[in-house]
Amino acid sequence: MSAQILNGQDIADRLQAQIAHEVEAFKGRYGIVPGLGVVMAGDNPASAQYVRMKRKACEKVGIHSVTHLVNSSTPQDEVLSLVRALNDDPLIHGVLVQLPLPAHIDEVAVLSAVGLEKDVDGFHPLNIGALAMKGREPSFVPATPSGCMVLLREAGVELDGANAVILGRSNIVGLPMTLLLMKANATVTVCHSRTRGLADVVRRADVLIAAVGRAEMVRGDWIKHGAVVIDVGTNKVDDPSSDKGYKIVGDVHFPSAVEVASVITKVPGGVGPMTITMLLSNTLKAARQHVGEKV
Ligand code: NDP
Repeated sequence: MSAQILNGQDIADRLQAQIAHEVEAFKGRYGIVPGLGVVMAGDNPASAQYVRMKRKACEKVGIHSVTHLVNSSTPQDEVLSLVRALNDDPLIHGVLVQLPLPAHIDEVAVLSAVGLEKDVDGFHPLNIGALAMKGREPSFVPATPSGCMVLLREAGVELDGANAVILGRSNIVGLPMTLLLMKANATVTVCHSRTRGLADVVRRADVLIAAVGRAEMVRGDWIKHGAVVIDVGTNKVDDPSSDKGYKIVGDVHFPSAVEVASVITKVPGGVGPMTITMLLSNTLKAARQHVGEKV
């Protein structure tokens, strides 16, 4: 058997076209352009690339964007001032702080400074808290896990009662993914670097979300026949045959996994484009909430 490949790029293109249409309609209704403000401290090349991609995606769908880039030795107070200025800027509806921050900056302090109504990354502790609690809804859900949920929905995956295994417990992927799958009534197991018998735990998954940052760690023989596999991992590995000298692979060994899974995402072209799309969607949502629309 060879799995159905879930093409995140195609789904993202379709959703982005819809967002562009909605942005245009929003501008027509209110004369307001949805705006995203980004703060990036330091010169991490991967972060710089993500910020460029976010800016380009905003342009593509008609969202106004502003990026504040500061160097890695910028004091915390200055970073906080930039966040507060974006909170107060009437042309900006969504604010995000590109992670990771330099080591001398307190991430909790900075993320907590983002206005709740502008927290389009969904990383404010109150938004994560609301995501964790029964009967509460956060204003925004973090982009990568909500992109994974859209992929699962697009593939028609039944989550109610399914055994879901999540590899990774980070604040930005593993933890919110866990909370979303619990809300969707899956039975969720979370694995991390201390998990014993990892391959055996993974073999119980009807739905596997891999977000560990370890190139091709999950092999085909870890995967239950017919499981759904969403690969969040984005790992750079040497590839002398490519012009760049490297290639990007996921946390899942695709050639062996595709033979046993029923549905699988590719890296690149799977979760990555969905992450950007959900950020655009959250920014539009923030603008709509700003004018009092029900969303
Ligand atoms: P983190 O490094 O923050 O977290 C990694 C998690 O994996 C941790 O919980 C860690 O455990 C666990 N882990 C690490 N090694 C192992 C191992 N050998 N066995 C079991 N668990 C392990 O990573 P992120 O969550 O930020 O990102 C994960 C991956 O997803 C990365 O490749 C990243 O580039 C990618 N990513 C992709 C995005 C996209 O849009 N496609 C967006 C965000 C991330 P412990 O907690 O014990 O340390």
